[in-house]
Amino acid sequence: MSATPGDESRAPRFVADRMLGPLTRYLRFMGYDTLSASAFAEGNTREDTLLLSLAEGEDRILLTRDRELARRAGAGAVLIRSERVMEQVQQLHSLGLIEPDLTMDRCGLCNGMLRPASTEEVESCGYAPLRREDLAFFWCEGCRKLYWMGSHGRNLKEDLDRHLRRPSESPR
Ligand SMILES: [Zn+2]
Repeated sequence: MSATPGDESRAPRFVADRMLGPLTRYLRFMGYDTLSASAFAEGNTREDTLLLSLAEGEDRILLTRDRELARRAGAGAVLIRSERVMEQVQQLHSLGLIEPDLTMDRCGLCNGMLRPASTEEVESCGYAPLRREDLAFFWCEGCRKLYWMGSHGRNLKEDLDRHLRRPSESPR
């Protein structure tokens, strides 16, 4: 947990096409401000144009699986090669765009900032785990959703570590 809510957002910022929902959630949990085409109305015929104007107007890197869209965006886009989310994360990491640590300071659903949850929020939430001693809880004001760094967060983190650990970082 290298950042706390309220810190400067991690750079860079992204906008992702609707094929990249899982990658979008990973990037948010890593603290990167990431907009998604999934937030646009389904079947919007101007979706590509919207993505391009968001990328350009808000200085966001466009992430897409669409070769033609990547070509139109030019240097401001990354054509995502794999359909597997871990390989997508790896591609962005190897391009030097992201540090794949889970910071849990941004909501995976809405891209809003998370803050530490209050005791009342944890207690009023029906899905909070009962054993809470070692868990850190976070709250999204926008979604009114509770997150915690527990088994789910740990699984994500282990996946990241397993796929992305560079040889120099291997424990021996
Ligand atoms: Zn949210």
